[in-house]
Amino acid sequence: MKYARKRVLVTGGAGFLGSHLCERLLADGHDVLCVDNFYTGSKDNIAHLIGNPYFELIRHDVTFPLYLEVDEIFNLACPASPVHYQRDPVQTTKTSVHGAINMLGLAKRINAKIFQASTSEVYGDPEVHPQTEDYRGSVNPIGPRACYDEGKRCAETLFFDYHRQHGLRIKVARIFNTYGPRMHPDDGRVVSNFIVQALEGRPITLYGDGSQTRSFCFVDDLIEGFIRLMNSADDITGPINLGNPQEMTIRELAEAVIKLTGAKSELVIKPLPADDPLQRQPNIAKAREKLGWEPKVALEDGLHRTIDYFRARLNA
Ligand code: NAD
Ligand code: UDP
Ligand code: UDP
Repeated sequence: MKYARKRVLVTGGAGFLGSHLCERLLADGHDVLCVDNFYTGSKDNIAHLIGNPYFELIRHDVTFPLYLEVDEIFNLACPASPVHYQRDPVQTTKTSVHGAINMLGLAKRINAKIFQASTSEVYGDPEVHPQTEDYRGSVNPIGPRACYDEGKRCAETLFFDYHRQHGLRIKVARIFNTYGPRMHPDDGRVVSNFIVQALEGRPITLYGDGSQTRSFCFVDDLIEGFIRLMNSADDITGPINLGNPQEMTIRELAEAVIKLTGAKSELVIKPLPADDPLQRQPNIAKAREKLGWEPKVALEDGLHRTIDYFRARLNA
């Protein structure tokens, strides 16, 4: 056991990141309460944890109040892929905003430390590159991505107001594109789309000409950043960028996936979605300095592990 045993609530714990976080917390010797309404998450992601006496699963929608007794809360509940969060945009805003209010109200009542999974999307289509935490962002408040971007911005506002007004201990992480095993195969995100398309020998769909950039972090690296931030001194509230600064074009990613899978897939051009950011790269100087954290897994290794996961899943 690495730390004293804590009771930790993970909202969105049956999702991609949440399931890895639950696993890590159990491995570190904690008691984990996983709350999820299974909107985008799945029981398959946590099936291997059921039966562990220190793991509890609660079906619950965070837009409704929740009464529990825990020491720490990781608030991850929210659909993360544009295809999912745009399917019911009103519910997306409710999840971010009402979900944050309820989890902050819970944290306040029981004096728990609380972590928010914020996002690089608070920077919108950025005019500052790479993005530092003091950049205030360029978000279209009425576009199709706004339910997510503005919902997450408002959640950050709530976190800092509960911190200032009620003295809550908060930890706000701005997460950049992350990939790895247990991404949803049809959630429309680029890494899962490209890998599944390649493994099925279908054409790879480049939106626009593929010259837009992203920076991809492997999930294990990100979870290490979550744990370090949660365990950091109380005056480290964030917001703090967590992501991999290695930036690439989406076309380069497609080529890497083709090479690593050995697929014969062609690249096909599809229209670029509205408000799709042209470039994105985290400046992680703050995470390096305050948390001693930086990503360790190279893209090729991370892609190999993700490809193996999807290959096993598609053959199952
Ligand atoms: P995911 O869709 O796999 O997981 C989200 C989980 O939240 C799912 O299990 C879903 O069922 C659950 N959920 C959604 N609405 C809920 C509600 N109202 N009540 C209870 N549970 C609800 O996505 P993910 O990639 O694991 O993302 C987790 C968090 O990290 C999200 O808050 C997301 O915004 C944030 N994030 C992720 C990335 C990334 O690249 N994966 C980047 C930035 C931010
Ligand atoms: N809340 C919750 N669990 C708790 C305490 C509060 O879900 O243990 C929710 C409840 O819905 C409340 C919200 O958190 O409305 C905000 O709580 P707060 O105490 O900040 O404000 P209130 O609305 O109670 O005045
Ligand atoms: N994208 C793509 N083909 C796909 C899915 C996504 O070219 O099949 C592009 C998308 O337009 C965006 C980038 O890949 O420029 C990352 O998309 P994703 O949905 O993964 O994340 P986000 O846009 O939220 O960063």
